[in-house]
Amino acid sequence: METLSTTLLVIGGGPGGYVAAIRAAQLGVATTLVEGDNVGGTCLNIGCIPSKALIHAADQFEKAGQFARNSPLGIHVESPRIDVAQTVRWKDGIVTKLTGGVATLLKKNGVQVVAGWARIIDGKTAEVTTATGQNALRIVCKHLLLAPGSQVVALPAMPFGGRVISSTEALAPKALPKRMVVVGAGYIGLELGMAYRKLGTEVAVVETLQRVLPAYDDELTKPVAASLRRLGVQLHLGCTVQGLNASGDAVRIRDAQGEESALPADQVLVAVGRRPRTEGWGMETLMLDMNGSAVRIDDQCRTSMRSVWAIGDVTGEPMLAHRAMAQGEMVAEVIAGVRRHFMPAAIPAVCFTDPEVVVVGRTPPEATQAGLDCISASFPFAANGRAMTLESSDGFVRVVARRDNHGIVGWQAVGQGVSELSAAFCHSIEMGERLEDTAGTIHAHPTLGEAIQEAALRALGHPLHVARA
Ligand code: FAD
Ligand code: NAD
Repeated sequence: METLSTTLLVIGGGPGGYVAAIRAAQLGVATTLVEGDNVGGTCLNIGCIPSKALIHAADQFEKAGQFARNSPLGIHVESPRIDVAQTVRWKDGIVTKLTGGVATLLKKNGVQVVAGWARIIDGKTAEVTTATGQNALRIVCKHLLLAPGSQVVALPAMPFGGRVISSTEALAPKALPKRMVVVGAGYIGLELGMAYRKLGTEVAVVETLQRVLPAYDDELTKPVAASLRRLGVQLHLGCTVQGLNASGDAVRIRDAQGEESALPADQVLVAVGRRPRTEGWGMETLMLDMNGSAVRIDDQCRTSMRSVWAIGDVTGEPMLAHRAMAQGEMVAEVIAGVRRHFMPAAIPAVCFTDPEVVVVGRTPPEATQAGLDCISASFPFAANGRAMTLESSDGFVRVVARRDNHGIVGWQAVGQGVSELSAAFCHSIEMGERLEDTAGTIHAHPTLGEAIQEAALRALGHPLHVARA
C-alpha cells in the first residue's frame, strides 16, 4: 500500500475542512485533504446553497402567481407555470460553479486533495479507499483534523425510503408532489416546507412541540406562523408521528389529547435534526471524549487526544456553515503556531423562511436566564418606509442591552430580507457597541437598516419614527 506523509491531514472537505486546509496551506503547513464526495460538503452540495436556490425559485414563482391574481402594483401576467427540471438544473449549475471554485482554491493554495473515504487507523494514520474500493492509500500525519460533518436523523417509526425522504432528495425533485407531509418545524422543515407550498404543493407540517421554530422565542416566531397560515400550510403542533398507514400513502399522527388521524402524503420530508458523523469510519477507535453525540473540543478545537482536532458539525451545535468556517480558519492558524482561541461574542443564526428570522447574541428570555438586567426594544417594519416600498412591512428589529451601561448583548429581527442585517448585528456585538453608538450612527435612508438605529433609539426612550412606549 502506498504511504503519503503530510503535516496536516484534514478529513472532510465541507466548509470547516476546506477553509482549514486553505488557511493552513497559506501559512506554509503541508496539508492533505481527503473528501469522499464533492468538495464543499453538505453546505454547497446538499444544504445551504441548494436550499436557498430552491427558496428563491419558489419566491419568484409565488410572486408571479400574485401578479396573475391581483397585484396592488398594477402588474398583470398570465398564470405562471414552472418547469421544475429546469429549476433543478439552474440550482445544480450554482452548486457546480461553487464546488468547482472551492476545488480551484484548494489547488491554487497548494492543498493536496485526495478523493476517497478515509478510515482512521490511529491518531496519526488514516487509510483512504476510492469510490470503487481500489487504490487504498495510507496517509500519516503530525496533525489530524476531523471535519466529517453530520448526517440526517431518521425516525424509527418511519425510516427513509420510498415516499419518505430527507432534505437531500427534497432539494432535487424530479416532479412536484401534490401533497407533502413535513415532519419537524425547525430550520429545514420550514424553509423547504414553505418553498414547496409556494411551488404549489399542499403541505402539512407535524411538530412535537407546541410552536414552530421552537428554538426561537414566541415573539420572533409569531410572524412566521402567521405567514404559514396565510400560505395555507396546515400546522399540526404538539403531535407525534406514529408511522405510515397500511397502504403507505398517509402519515399517522397522534395529538396531545391522544387523538389519532392520518395525513395523506405523496411525499414525506423528515427533518427532525442532524447528528454528528462519528461512527462507521474508525473514529470510535480513538476513544475521544464526547459531549453527548458530538466530539468534545476546547476553545482551540483540540480534542482529548494530542494533535487530533475537530471542527464543524461533528462538534455539535450550532451546526452552521459559518461556525464551521470560523473554526476551520482558527484551527489552521493554531496548528501553524499562531495564538488564537475560538471565542466569538456571537454566532448569527438565520432561518430563511418567509419572513426570515435572525438571532444574534442573547434574546430577552436568554438575557434574563443569564441573570442580566436588560432592556429590550423593537422597531416595527410597519413604520419603515423602505419596507413599505418592498411590500414587506411585517416584522421588526429588536435590540437587547444591559440596563446599567447600555452594552448591547443581542439583536433579533424577523422580516423579509433581514438575513442581510445579520452582518450589522454581529459587528455591533463583536465591537462592544452601546445603544448610544448605534443610535448615533447615521443609517442610510430609505433602508431596512434604519430599523436598527430606531430600535436603539427606542431602547433609549426617544424613538423618532414611532410613538414612545
Ligand atoms: P459538511 O459540510 O457536512 O462536510 C463534511 C464533509 O466530509 C462531507 O463532504 C463528507 O462527504 C466528508 N466526509 C465525511 N466523512 C468522511 C470520510 N470518512 N472520508 C472522507 N470524507 C468524509 N448552515 C448554515 O449556516 N446556513 C444555512 O442556510 C444552512 N442550510 C442548510 C440546509 C440544509 C438542507 C442542510 C442539510 C444543512 C444546512 N446548513 C446550513 C448546515 C450546514 O450545511 C452545515 O452546518 C455545514 O455544512 C457543516 O460543515 P462541516 O464542514 O462541519 O461538514
Ligand atoms: P432542527 O433541529 O432545526 O429542527 C428539528 C425539529 O423537529 C424541531 O423543531 C423538533 O422539535 C422537531 N422534531 C424532532 N423530533 C420530532 C418528531 N419525532 N416528530 C415531529 N417533530 C420532531 O433540525 P433540522 O431542521 O433537521 O435541521 C438540522 C440542522 O441543519 C439544524 O440544526 C441547523 O443546524 C442546520 N440548518 C441550518 C439552516 C440555516 O442556518 N438556515 C437551514 C437548514 C438546516
